Formats: sequence, C-alpha cells, structure tokens
Amino acid sequence: MAEVLVLAEHTEAGEVKKVTCELLTAARRLGAPSVVWTGPGAAAGQGRLAEFGAEKVYVADSPEFDGYPVAPAAELLASLVAAHSPAAVLIAGTTEGKEIAGRLAVKTGSGVLTDAVNITPGPDGAPVAEQPNFGGAITVHSVVKKGTPVIAVRPNAVSAEPAPAAAVLEPVEFTASDAAKAARVTEHVVAEKGSRPDLTEAQIVVSGGRGTGSADGFKIIETLADALGAAVGASRAVTDAGWYPHQFQVGQTGKTVSPQLYVAVGISGAIQHRAGMQTSKTILAINKDPEAPIFEIADYGIVGDLFTVVPQLLDEIAKKKEL
Ligand SMILES: Cc1cc2nc3c(=O)[nH]c(=O)nc-3n(C[C@H](O)[C@H](O)[C@H](O)COP(=O)(O)OP(=O)(O)OC[C@H]3O[C@@H](n4cnc5c(N)ncnc54)[C@H](O)[C@@H]3O)c2cc1C
Repeated sequence: MAEVLVLAEHTEAGEVKKVTCELLTAARRLGAPSVVWTGPGAAAGQGRLAEFGAEKVYVADSPEFDGYPVAPAAELLASLVAAHSPAAVLIAGTTEGKEIAGRLAVKTGSGVLTDAVNITPGPDGAPVAEQPNFGGAITVHSVVKKGTPVIAVRPNAVSAEPAPAAAVLEPVEFTASDAAKAARVTEHVVAEKGSRPDLTEAQIVVSGGRGTGSADGFKIIETLADALGAAVGASRAVTDAGWYPHQFQVGQTGKTVSPQLYVAVGISGAIQHRAGMQTSKTILAINKDPEAPIFEIADYGIVGDLFTVVPQLLDEIAKKKEL
C-alpha cells in the first residue's frame, strides 16, 4: 500500500494535537500513514499515533526545529519525499502548516492544495481535496497533477476516528542547510492561555460582533462561552475597535474555525467573516435584524436583541446543568 506522510503537530512533551489524529484518519483513506515527527517527545506521543493508525513514525529529534521557523520542517519533508515517494503529504492547515506546505511544494516541484475540508481517493487512487472557495460560496474538488500532492487540511474538518496500528519509531538523521537557517527564532513568548479551549480546535465557538456595542458589552460573549465550555471568537469589527484581542478574530484575515457548533452573536455575516466559519457543522445566529446575511447560512436563527436573548439562553443552560 502506498505510504502517506503526515506531519505531526505536537507539544515538546509529546502531546499529539487533535488535528494530527484528523490527518491520520484522512491519510488512511489514501494508503498507509507514516507520521513525520520533528523535535523531541515522539516516544510520549507514540501511543496516540498508534491509536489513530500510524504505521510508522519518522523521528527527526533535532533542536533545529525549535531554533528556526518553518524552513527546516519543509527541508526534512522534502528529503523524506525523495527517499520514500509517498502518495501524498498531509499537513495541518494552520498558518505555519500552510507555509510548510508551500515551501515543500516548491522544493519537490509539486502542486499544493490548501484549506482542504475533506480528502477522498479519486478513481485512480490519487487524493481529491474538497475546498470551499470565495468565502464558502463555491465548493471545488481539486487534484494535484504534478509531483507529490501536498495538502493542507483545515483543523476540525475531518472527524478523527481510531484504527490501531503499530506506529513503529524510525529515527531519521537530519541537519538543516544554511539556507534553512537564514531566519532564526530569537525568543519564545508564551501566549497567556486561560481555561477556555483553543479557538481553532474547540468543539463549540461563541463569537461576538459589533452588535455587542462595546468592550464591556462583549463580556456577555465570554459568559455564554464559559457556560457552554466554548472558545471565544470575534468579528473584525470587534477586534479593530479594540474590544477584544486580534488573535481571536474569525474570518478571511483571522482564524479559520470548523467547530461542531458556531454561535454568531450580533454578527452580520459579511463574506469575509463567513470565510472563517462557514464549514462549522451547526451554526446558530442571534441578530436583531431578520435580514442579516448570517441567517442565510445559519441552521438555527434567533431574531432579537442579544442582550435579551443571551441572558435567557444562560438561564436555560443553568437549568439544564441543574438536572
Ligand atoms: C479585506 C478584508 C478582510 C476582512 N477580514 C475579516 C475577517 O477576517 N473577519 C471579519 O469578521 N471581518 C472581516 N472583514 C470585515 C467585514 O467585511 C465586516 O465589516 C465585519 O465582519 C463586520 O463585523 P460585524 O458583523 O461584527 O459588524 P456589522 O456588520 O456592523 O454587524 C453587526 C450586526 O449586529 C447586529 N446587532 C446590532 N445590535 C444588536 C443587538 N443588540 N442584538 C442583536 N444583534 C445586533 C446588527 O443587526 C448587525 O447585523 C474584512 C474586510 C475586508 C475588506
């Protein structure tokens, strides 16, 4: 069976990110998944990789992955593509992942597909990627015609399903070239992480828009998110106004999310916002304007003032929790 490379996203301690399990699930449809592990922690992550179907794990435990940005990872992948001729390389569609994918495609003379929300084998077995375009208005199915297909898959788009395999660790010698070391990481600043789930990985996202009226008004979004165990998102109107930090912006120029439930509160549903949340499994919109475009894509809609509707929702959630 053809080998499919999956670049692992993980912490230094070896905690495997959920998106890696999603990539493994997609990779199994195309062939035998081999994980590419950069840096330390592979032994700690091995069990989880095995659970989701990794046959092999190429481990390049070099400090260079931490000391330099994405270039060494692209170089490592290019060397593995040359050595093993995989059927495809799957990478998480994060900001870093997409950059690695682009660099890898250039290095290997291959086509690259980004923002895939699904991958299936085509009639000849080659991967067919499903991509939403123009803010989700059009869905296209794309194939790579040249080289080894490099595909960046959106986190949360594929449901991770376990299928045990061996996940045999295979050490790989790797030294980054001088070119890959042209840009160096000078400092790591740990982002303050509250108790809420990560925005791009959360099962539920509650996002607030200009309808919240102010930074103070936006606090109701945090309250609803906490009641639901959700991550908080925001429209660009909110982040530009300084009511909430930019790192929580959802949309074309912000984060792309695809949770099980997306709650859009006081958000009109501009195409640039939709581009970042349209593939959410279920969308609930709360807006006082029945003509707001967000209702065109919402599965459930509540027309009303958010400062009346959200407190009622909170009461109902509290009652359910008491049961
Ligand atoms: C190049 C480019 C990139 C962009 N990238 C992004 C992006 O990444 N993300 C993004 O979000 N936007 C982005 N935008 C901006 C986008 O076009 C919209 O301006 C923005 O999404 C609007 O945010 P909003 O829905 O919060 O505000 P508005 O469009 O002003 O909508 C506010 C909504 O709240 C409702 N409302 C008001 N008061 C209440 C109330 N009390 N109760 C209930 N509802 C109420 C109103 O009916 C309205 O529908 C981008 C724009 C450009 C040009």
